[in-house]
Amino acid sequence: PSARAPLEIAGLEAWYGPSQALYGVALSVGAGELVTLLGRNGAGKTTTLNAIVGMVPRRKGSIRIEGIETGAMPSHKIARTGVAICPEDRGIYATLTAEENLVLPPVVAEGGLSVDEILVLFPGLKDRLKSPGTKLSGGEQQMLAIGRILRTGARLLLLDEPTEGLAPVVVKQIGAAIADLKRRGYTILMVEQNVRFASTIADRHYVVDRGRIAETFDNATLLADFDRISGRLSA
Ligand code: ATP
Repeated sequence: PSARAPLEIAGLEAWYGPSQALYGVALSVGAGELVTLLGRNGAGKTTTLNAIVGMVPRRKGSIRIEGIETGAMPSHKIARTGVAICPEDRGIYATLTAEENLVLPPVVAEGGLSVDEILVLFPGLKDRLKSPGTKLSGGEQQMLAIGRILRTGARLLLLDEPTEGLAPVVVKQIGAAIADLKRRGYTILMVEQNVRFASTIADRHYVVDRGRIAETFDNATLLADFDRISGRLSA
């Protein structure tokens, strides 16, 4: 990848207090690519996403977003480089309506989507705009959480386990929306425990294990060797 790849990470380390969570993570995501971080619980996938947006207590190493070194920037400055994260807990405010949740993030880069444009991607939210966050289903909350970050104008999207806890039919809807985002040219780095789901939409994968990148392969390799690779990831 060139110096202006949407994301290039090298030698990334991260700590929670005295305990180290990442040990020299290196990865890159090219323009328009959809790349996943696979791996067991506690491997360091969420920490990797959080480190990219400056939301871990301490980190070290190089993180380049569109060629800009952000490894030592505070998170509000990182946001202005055009990256946004959809966190694992979805971060929906229970007392706000869906619409209020949707317009919460500030526009930080050109090309931020309007509410109407977000509803084109997530038509299921249209009838739910006035509902409070708590009344939304898990799938609706996930759509809202992803839709919301599109408002910022970020072109690099970090999605943390978007399918977690969702029924298969809802996983399909979320998958279709993420594939749509890819078609629209967004670059996506996604944490995913569901290897089957990952294999239906991603271009490439990294396996995170004990704070390190253990392995990387393209999606064709995953599909060709699915049982062995997915078996190892869940063993
Ligand atoms: P999961 O799917 O369970 O979130 P993960 O691969 O995303 O797994 P991380 O959440 O990044 O893993 O966790 C990596 C390591 O850092 C684990 O050992 C975890 O216990 C530790 N860790 C994560 N968050 C914190 C925190 N807030 N405080 C202390 N340790 C943490």
